[in-house]
Amino acid sequence: MTLPSLTPPNYDDVAAAAHRLKGMAHRTPVLRSSTADERQGAQLFFKCENLQRTGAFKFRGAFNTLAQFTDEQRERGVLAFSAGNHAQAIALSARLLDMPAVIVMPEDAPAAKMAATRDYGAQVVTYNRYTEDREAISRRLALERGMTLVPPFDHPHVIAGQGTAAKELFEEVPDLDYLFVCVGGGGLLAGSLLAAEALAPQCRVVGVEPAAGNDGQQSFKAGHVVQIPTPHTIADGAQTQALGQLTFPIIQRLADDMVTATDEQLVESLRFFAERMKIVVEPTGALAFAGAQYGNVDIHGARVGILISGGNVDLSRLARFLAD
Ligand SMILES: *Cc1c(COP(=O)(O)O)cnc(C)c1O
Repeated sequence: MTLPSLTPPNYDDVAAAAHRLKGMAHRTPVLRSSTADERQGAQLFFKCENLQRTGAFKFRGAFNTLAQFTDEQRERGVLAFSAGNHAQAIALSARLLDMPAVIVMPEDAPAAKMAATRDYGAQVVTYNRYTEDREAISRRLALERGMTLVPPFDHPHVIAGQGTAAKELFEEVPDLDYLFVCVGGGGLLAGSLLAAEALAPQCRVVGVEPAAGNDGQQSFKAGHVVQIPTPHTIADGAQTQALGQLTFPIIQRLADDMVTATDEQLVESLRFFAERMKIVVEPTGALAFAGAQYGNVDIHGARVGILISGGNVDLSRLARFLAD
């Protein structure tokens, strides 16, 4: 069973998602750093979704989607494929809504993410991300067990849920000139764009991808979805091969620009977060800040929102990055 609706989401869906998430998702803090401001010659506002439930913004889209299941769908449960954060988000949302969950994960997913997914009560099925097709595996399992497959980014309810983080930021910090958002499949960016269009039309929203996997940037320039092989980057949450059928048109229509950051620039950003701001951020979560610093967008004198997307990283892995 797949979800029926593939109508593109709009801002009303983001507002409805915010209502559903009230009391379920954290309203995450917006942090400042005078050192960051001085270095960039700008005012930076860090929206900390690394402090969201399950350690990433994905809880927003997952809960918003599962909360709209029919009684029959709830009974059969939910199935998802994910490199990690969508998995934990689905697992916790399923537990909160009292339904079974099966998660299909790459066998080399970070240990902390896999363990957390199991701890939330989901069953984990693994596959090889370089040789096997996770979507085919997931579809077969969903069919066999009658479970509803929830994709990590290309679904209207997921996109609407992800948009609630930017909605909160725009409500808390008016007059932003820029918002930088990391991009994997584009769910977070698409949702943020819908929020920006309604709440901060003056704000230029910039997507940031790993330099090794700039399919979104290529798509944005080409005017159609460009697919690439799975990129090798430390930003494991953004190793997607292509934008989605729903996320791409929204990004194409509303994004101001798409820029990239190298793994080295991500490590520098992670170091800044740990040393100066005392926060644990995962490599993918540092994309937006790295893009603001190194992406050749002139932010001088501007008010700049930075969406920190997640904080799930094995600490030994983080320590290795920072030791280099
Ligand atoms: C999923 C994820 C992303 C990418 O989000 P998309 O909606 O696929 O673009 C970025 N950062 C983190 C931490 C994530 O978990």
